[in-house]
Amino acid sequence: MLNANPVLNQPINDPILDAKGIKLVVKRLDLIHPEISGNKFFKLKYNLEEAKSQGKDTILTFGGAYSNHISATASGAKAENLNAIGIIRGDTTTTLNPTLLEAQSKGMELYFVSREEYRKKGNLEFIENLKEKFGDFFLIPEGGTNKFAIKGTTEILQNQDEEFSHVICSIGTGGTFAGLAASIKPSQKLIGISSLKGEFIHQEIKNLLDKHHISPAGIMEIKSTFHFGGYAKYNEELIDFIWEFYHKTQIVLDPIYTGKLAFAVWEMIKKNELENGAKILMIHSGGLQGNRGFTERTGIKLPVPVM
Ligand SMILES: *Cc1c(COP(=O)(O)O)cnc(C)c1O
Repeated sequence: MLNANPVLNQPINDPILDAKGIKLVVKRLDLIHPEISGNKFFKLKYNLEEAKSQGKDTILTFGGAYSNHISATASGAKAENLNAIGIIRGDTTTTLNPTLLEAQSKGMELYFVSREEYRKKGNLEFIENLKEKFGDFFLIPEGGTNKFAIKGTTEILQNQDEEFSHVICSIGTGGTFAGLAASIKPSQKLIGISSLKGEFIHQEIKNLLDKHHISPAGIMEIKSTFHFGGYAKYNEELIDFIWEFYHKTQIVLDPIYTGKLAFAVWEMIKKNELENGAKILMIHSGGLQGNRGFTERTGIKLPVPVM
């Protein structure tokens, strides 16, 4: 079983919070493990256990070239002495980016497929072809969301977190949101900030909760207006916010998920969408490994964590 560091709940100090009578605390899942960061730790934990109990010695999964899930899977498989194969969307780049270099250095075998082919990753035939090529494996879907992942993400909230009126997290595939939805208390409201563009996310989350028979004890809301143009899209305002937040708190955010999450939380506070007296727990879902690749790709500097 993967070992976790104790989780830190870090209170944020800012005059605006005092003025609005709001308490804001960040759950630092980014510090949970030196290599398997954030929500991915929780999402992988029982998948790796399941692979072992099925007697599989290889994990196969999918992701983009900068994927936190690919990075975490490479580290998690290594920690559990399992082989890992990463099916990566896009052509082999002549030089691998920092995410892929590190995954490879941890023993993950990388296999590149075109975007077109990548879209078939759900097809039975595509999976069968992969089995012919690589032999038997335990499959973890893109983004890592399945029932074992959700079992893991129900463990993010701890007893001490009952005091919060609001729990706010980032949404990609929704596996983290689903686990939180399953574990909030009747008095709590869960707000998910979608990093993806589109209203489809409301239905997608509903389907996910139905599929896993999750009916939350508290209230849920999904915000689909903080995507900054879409997945992995960003603008100067977001980058400036990430730096401001860092200077204020020493907490590093990423531009794909947690930067948009914290931006949304701050906007909601400014616009009085979170009532006076609210106690907010913001889930820092990690993902900071991608910051190096982001800077390499865009030339835009971001804070980097000191580990
Ligand atoms: C993967 C990821 C998410 C999205 O999690 P889902 O369970 O897919 O919704 C959020 N934040 C970070 C930092 C991630 O790496």
